[in-house]
Amino acid sequence: MRRYQVKSLFGPTLQGEGLHAGMPCLFLRLAGCNAWDGRPEKRATSACPYCDTDFLGGEPLDAAAISERLAALVPESGPGPGRSGRGSTGTLGLVLTGGEPLLQADGELLATLGAAFRWVDIETNGTRPCPVRPANVFISCSPKRIAGQEVVVEADWWKVLIPDQESFLERALASGKPVFLQPTCPDQGPSGELYQRHLERCLALCYRHGCRLSLQIHKYIGIP
Ligand code: SF4
Repeated sequence: MRRYQVKSLFGPTLQGEGLHAGMPCLFLRLAGCNAWDGRPEKRATSACPYCDTDFLGGEPLDAAAISERLAALVPESGPGPGRSGRGSTGTLGLVLTGGEPLLQADGELLATLGAAFRWVDIETNGTRPCPVRPANVFISCSPKRIAGQEVVVEADWWKVLIPDQESFLERALASGKPVFLQPTCPDQGPSGELYQRHLERCLALCYRHGCRLSLQIHKYIGIP
């Protein structure tokens, strides 16, 4: 049985970004990334010097164990009003993230997760192709320029970080898929002069190209 290195599972919370922003969900974070080795002393010189994620370590779990751990996160009363007993993951979405989740996710895992959840967002940097997936499993691509690695994934929507990954905007627009522009968030959170500059650049580009603004709403309301 194939095992996946799982960094963390948590929720319920809200998807903070992209097409399902504001919707209730659980998170599955797989370990490892090809854009940064995760060591703090290497972050500034990595492809993502703004990365705010700890994706090192974790534990090996198979798809069935992952499903069980996720189901156990659903509140006893279920996520909706008037429910009793253990809730179902079927009313929730799932954010499959990392690190870079497509370093590990295969067709078996995506089929298992797609069957259990209302929707699944794979948050990828785009440098790995996606295996065959159910129709309710989506690819949210935040493309990253990583030396020697092309963006190859077929995105369902793009989330372009401004200003750091602005060079991908033309390609994202040409795809005809929804394009979200998201201001890069400095370490101190969505505030301060630098963040304001990034936000203003996003707004200018949204007005010019008809893109959608993506704010990381979980950071604004202080949830994980
Ligand atoms: S691809 Fe994502 S997880 Fe990996 S280093 Fe960049 S921002 Fe962090």
